[in-house]
Amino acid sequence: MKILVINAGSSSLKYQLINMEDESVIAKGNCDRIGIDGHIKHTTFDGRVIDTDCTFPTHTEAFEKLVEVLTTGEGKVIDSMSEISAVGHRIVQGAEIFSKTTLVTDEVIQQIDDLSELAPVHNHPHALALRACKKVIPETTPQVVVFDTAFHQTMPEKAFMFGMPYECYEKYHVRKYGFHGTSHRFVTQALAEALGKPLSELKIVSCHLGNGSSITAVDGGKSVDTSMGFTPLDGVIMGTRSGCVDPSAVTFIENKKHLSPSEMSDYLNKKSGFLGISGISSDNRDITAAAQHGDKKAQLAGEMLRYEIKKYIGSYAAVMNGLDAVLFTGGIGENSDDLRADVCRDMEFFGIKLDEAANAGLRGKLQRISAPDSKVEVWVVPTNEELLIARDTRDLVGNL
Ligand code: AMP
Repeated sequence: MKILVINAGSSSLKYQLINMEDESVIAKGNCDRIGIDGHIKHTTFDGRVIDTDCTFPTHTEAFEKLVEVLTTGEGKVIDSMSEISAVGHRIVQGAEIFSKTTLVTDEVIQQIDDLSELAPVHNHPHALALRACKKVIPETTPQVVVFDTAFHQTMPEKAFMFGMPYECYEKYHVRKYGFHGTSHRFVTQALAEALGKPLSELKIVSCHLGNGSSITAVDGGKSVDTSMGFTPLDGVIMGTRSGCVDPSAVTFIENKKHLSPSEMSDYLNKKSGFLGISGISSDNRDITAAAQHGDKKAQLAGEMLRYEIKKYIGSYAAVMNGLDAVLFTGGIGENSDDLRADVCRDMEFFGIKLDEAANAGLRGKLQRISAPDSKVEVWVVPTNEELLIARDTRDLVGNL
């Protein structure tokens, strides 16, 4: 069985074709600059690469090009699209409507589009891509949607509500939704397998740290709290996102700098975080290099992230009344051994003791990094959201 996984943005269409027999990637790539001009980079399992400019006025032309490179020419990996059993799409916001992976119908696409107000950057482009995909793939090929928010729908009300007037929730659906759900679900399952224990018996703090970062308390396989909120802006400091700030600071700066609400939103989403604090870069590697060269603001940015992660681990251990494991994933979590060491330092109170040698130099590999006598297991668990989407898609269409 072959599954095509799609992650569509407003100007890009990332894809992976996965062979579910052995979960290997047959081909992957990105159609980007949609609506601007167009470009595709396509790589096959055996190393063939297509890297060329195209014309993509809309997502439909990008899908047409994707079909072309998969089925013809230099990058061909299948004879026809009918070889693909189903298409799985990543969707950012499913709100309270979608608490699980769902088969696509016209009504579902409309519901995803209707949620655009809650995720303007993501949901409308997702709906455009779903409609374009429907036009281009065979009518008989099912499409499935997997939501970033769905995993967090198990959070209790006391965790997802904000202390604002209740009408904000009732009338405007303002609450904590949480994001990165596919990643947190994938890595916590993978960790349970690695530990040889049922997920239902584990209390895990899952730290997904990348350009965007979120930390989730997973109790018995269920998300009970998470750091991202109404949007992916909340929580720890990120590449260009501020993370949690006092809302009064937002209105204060809005007034001081005479910013409109959307300009203020840009300020917090695109000019803050590592970039805003350091003035150097949003990228953890650049920040680490500058910090090592003595740049005080880069050092501060790194220290802020480490401090905030520690606070989440502590508060989530309290919320779950226990802690079996902490895991690190995402570009920073999987690769930055110095950050992992700093976060786990001085955590003996929580029963966390790092194996410095196991941690040092470890990049992108599933491995325990806690000492044998650590009460809490600490692991690096590489994430694979595309594979989880493919598995979910297979499971859903397999039951049709
Ligand atoms: P992601 O959004 O998950 O792709 O993660 C991107 C972040 O991971 C960026 O801030 C990168 O600097 C960081 N990153 C990637 N590779 C490394 C590495 N080898 N060491 C430290 N940070 C890294």
